[in-house]
Amino acid sequence: MDKQYDVMILGAGPAGMTAAIYASRAGLTCGMLEVSAPGGKLVKTFEISNYPSVSHSNGADLAYKMFEHSTAFGAEYLYGDVVEVTDGDLKKISCADGTIYYAKAVIIATGTNERKMNIPEEEELTGKGVSYCAVCDGAFFKEKVVTVIGGGNSALEESLYLTQFASKVKIVIRRDVFRAEEAIVKRVTSHPKIEIITKHVPIELITKEDKVSGIVLQHVDSNEKMIVDTEGVFPYIGADPATLFVKELGILNEQGYVIVNEKMETSIKGIYAAGDVCAKVLRQVVTATSDGAIAAQGAFHYLND
Ligand code: NDP
Repeated sequence: MDKQYDVMILGAGPAGMTAAIYASRAGLTCGMLEVSAPGGKLVKTFEISNYPSVSHSNGADLAYKMFEHSTAFGAEYLYGDVVEVTDGDLKKISCADGTIYYAKAVIIATGTNERKMNIPEEEELTGKGVSYCAVCDGAFFKEKVVTVIGGGNSALEESLYLTQFASKVKIVIRRDVFRAEEAIVKRVTSHPKIEIITKHVPIELITKEDKVSGIVLQHVDSNEKMIVDTEGVFPYIGADPATLFVKELGILNEQGYVIVNEKMETSIKGIYAAGDVCAKVLRQVVTATSDGAIAAQGAFHYLND
């Protein structure tokens, strides 16, 4: 039988888990639908050092604590890959396996998906040298040379993590400046195991015995190519919002992020969004949890009015 909730939260990252805490504590029946492990990007993050009261934590540990908290007041954790949300007095949430849920309010907290390099054989070599998760796969590269693509916070944080295992970490950026915060740029540029390659982009993977053995880079101005011998390639080149399932609702901006106001309301009554999936200026754990609380509170008032 199709199940119905007061509020259905889509995604169990920091935003979704906080929304679950606030909604269930407010007495709403609440489902939290997630397609992978709870925690979202937090699970794949080596170090969290800027969440108040958490000056140093492993991302997975913090995610686990949040998850325990999020289900402590009655919110139900559900597995499901949402493919469509349709509006109505009751919102209809359809999953890939045919399961359908109904809810009076929906909070979209599905975050983002990592961007691919879009170079030949990237997909085939994922798991054979190409990895999007340093925390998951870093230990496979003990005493090996690895290459990180990108110069944002993610790329730099995960590069530092990889120095525990790798003999050398090469970071490839397409400009001659980083996008990441200054504090982490300083740590990276002064690290003895890290080498920075500027003004290059990846164009081709080189293989040996069906595994990555190198990467071809191209200079952005001269187009000159260079080969880097490396057994691991970790692309950290940003992310795109996971919002395909609401593309028909007219609540997205041109980049696919959900447009919300300061109450985390979309233009559709009863549909809210929270966390990285929103069009916003700062994507952090702390801003995601804040969004989640506001969205859940908004849903509570919507249902009571
Ligand atoms: P960002 O968008 O911040 O950085 C992406 C990086 O990849 C940039 O250096 C960008 O270069 C580069 N890039 C993008 N496309 C390509 C391409 N096709 N080829 C080569 N290089 C490319 O993404 P992040 O995932 O690092 O961060 C996402 C958000 O999460 C940010 O808001 C970030 O601040 C936040 N975050 C915060 C953390 C924290 O504070 N602890 C940890 C991790 C993420 P260019 O600069 O030239 O565009």
